[in-house]
Amino acid sequence: MKIIDLRSDTQTQPTEQMRKAMYAAEVGDDVAGEDKSMNALEEKAARLIGKESAMFVTSGTQGNLVAILSHCSKADEILVGSESHIFWNENAAVSSLVGAQTRMVNNETDGTLNIEHLTTSFRPSSGPQFPYTTLVCLENTHNRCNGAAISPEHTSAVAKITHDNGAALHIDGARIFNAAIALETDASYIVRDADSVTFCLSKGLSGPVGSLLCGSKEFIETARKWRRMLGAGMRQAGSLAAAGIVALDEMIDRLSIDHDNANILANNISNIPGITIDPANIQTNIVIFEVDNKLTNTAIVVNRLKEKGVLVSTYFGVISGGGSFIRMVTHRHINRNDIDEASKILRSVMADLRQT
Ligand SMILES: *Cc1c(COP(=O)(O)O)cnc(C)c1O
Repeated sequence: MKIIDLRSDTQTQPTEQMRKAMYAAEVGDDVAGEDKSMNALEEKAARLIGKESAMFVTSGTQGNLVAILSHCSKADEILVGSESHIFWNENAAVSSLVGAQTRMVNNETDGTLNIEHLTTSFRPSSGPQFPYTTLVCLENTHNRCNGAAISPEHTSAVAKITHDNGAALHIDGARIFNAAIALETDASYIVRDADSVTFCLSKGLSGPVGSLLCGSKEFIETARKWRRMLGAGMRQAGSLAAAGIVALDEMIDRLSIDHDNANILANNISNIPGITIDPANIQTNIVIFEVDNKLTNTAIVVNRLKEKGVLVSTYFGVISGGGSFIRMVTHRHINRNDIDEASKILRSVMADLRQT
């Protein structure tokens, strides 16, 4: 049976060109700044994102943690979206490892932050009882909000409010190049007013491991110390960097194929009774649909799909407004036939469930 794996774009395997580049990579001690491949990747990443400097980190999660450690002190408060990855999926690292606390700002269903809620969430600067609000985090694309691409205009509006309140803006841009492709602009333009940005090599870009944290020269110097403290001073990491360079050179433009496939998938399934999805909300490679709880539940749908070779994931916790959701992510190993096949299988699974 052919497996159609729509669980995540993290399932992508490194390309043949990446494997060759990894084999051939010139390496050195990166802790001493002597890994030529790593230096080349970091320079390329900084240029693409439009910041002075960049630093390789082991994962997007580590990149966010290092960014927050570098921007904040203990007992600060940071503002994060109510549907953000930092809040939902990073093990309360902000409270346990940074020693700061997160305060949620409502995400709209399009992944933006509610501007009024954001504006009123900064702490007054006076009074010994208030923590300092030192950081705002914005996610782009927004994972739990249908992979929405957040516009440069919203990003700049959030940056202005953030800076006017004396805080810094960090972008969790795990899939920032998906946003750039969807919005037909440069990633650097989207994040131009942000103080730091993380993005993943290991998702749709098909890299094996790693993310980049980007910001000012001074910020990245601080971040290098925090990364080192977290045990991620990596020595001859150039092989990973070499794959990352291929990811940035070769794999960004093709993300539009994943977006087209996601759009087709959303349209194919939008009229299946028992599920709800508005294809107009699907801008990038994440397709989320709601399952009618009166008919069945997500665990049953996931298992039935799995029996027929289609792997999908559910959302842990509910997205704003409640409901039960299933997520499908398109990527390099999913082609048009897979999309049509997966759509057919979902249709038949839902038909079977309606009859029982
Ligand atoms: C995947 C993801 C991360 C974390 O990346 P890892 O490399 O899996 O740690 C962070 N933020 C968002 C929005 C993500 O989708």
